[in-house]
Amino acid sequence: MVQRILEAGDIESLDHSAIPRIRTPERLAVFSARAARLRQLAALSNPIAGYLRLMAALADAQQAVMTGFKAKPPSAELIASAQQHSMPLIPALSGVRDPAWHEVLIQLLDKLQAAGLLTPPLEALIAKLRTLDAATLESQADAIFAQRFAEVDPASAPFIMAALQVVWTDLAADIDKRDVPYLETLGLCPVCGSHPVASTVRIGGVHDNYRYLQCGLCATEWHMVRSKCSNCDSTKGIAYHTLGSPDADAATKEAESSKAALKAESCDECHTYRKIGYQSKDYDFDPFADDLASLTLDLLMGEEGYRRASPHPWLWPEQTDTATDPSSESD
Ligand SMILES: [Zn+2]
Ligand SMILES: [Zn+2]
Repeated sequence: MVQRILEAGDIESLDHSAIPRIRTPERLAVFSARAARLRQLAALSNPIAGYLRLMAALADAQQAVMTGFKAKPPSAELIASAQQHSMPLIPALSGVRDPAWHEVLIQLLDKLQAAGLLTPPLEALIAKLRTLDAATLESQADAIFAQRFAEVDPASAPFIMAALQVVWTDLAADIDKRDVPYLETLGLCPVCGSHPVASTVRIGGVHDNYRYLQCGLCATEWHMVRSKCSNCDSTKGIAYHTLGSPDADAATKEAESSKAALKAESCDECHTYRKIGYQSKDYDFDPFADDLASLTLDLLMGEEGYRRASPHPWLWPEQTDTATDPSSESD
């Protein structure tokens, strides 16, 4: 009865065993923290350091554009309907998309060009992006959200995604956590319905030692128990992989694994993996930036026979003739 008259937030503060379900992005810091982390990772003799610095400039541009931007928030009717049907609050794939992101894309390109890191091929790509009409932009967004790889242009997708991220992150930063519906699919973002990029075991305060998946679009984080696969909900066959010395003995490998701030969490039910970071080992871990900067771990996982559960939003697979259907599900 007490619970009926208290708001959800009050209950959480009364009951210390309650796990906060949702962490919303911080409007003034989400993209700048990502940019700082990308630069930090680029400085650690990363094989793709130049690319990471360029992407840090893109994240800086996102932060700058979001400061002067406000998306149209969902109506009370839309919120009620999403809750009633256990659907994402502001779905990215279905529903009417706010075309404001087209202008956001142009502003991001302006800022990226002003940052002065562009090579001639990138200048050409940006010139091409500026000429895309609204229908082409929307169909690219559809293909990206539906993960129809054959229709996604891998070169322009990161920039299109960056513009969409500004709009959805702006919306997610302002939502009331209590409005966020409970979805039946635990592995999709309850705010926008997109796939998570990676997860973090957080430290400190009410989130201490809990695992949160971070949305690749709106940066909302939602709680998921660590014993479950974020792709298929299986609790069987979960294993962790780290980059270490491949020829080391078992004891050395064990020690390397226990120190690692970043691991790949694989599932033998669906044969996919997502990365997981431990803030207790590296406080600055950022799921979006750290996933992008750890391609060597992706190579290792490919060699071990696992595929990514979903692509990194800024790194789309090149199309090949033999591409397998990413939506196919085996049992
Ligand atoms: Zn989301
Ligand atoms: Zn699985």
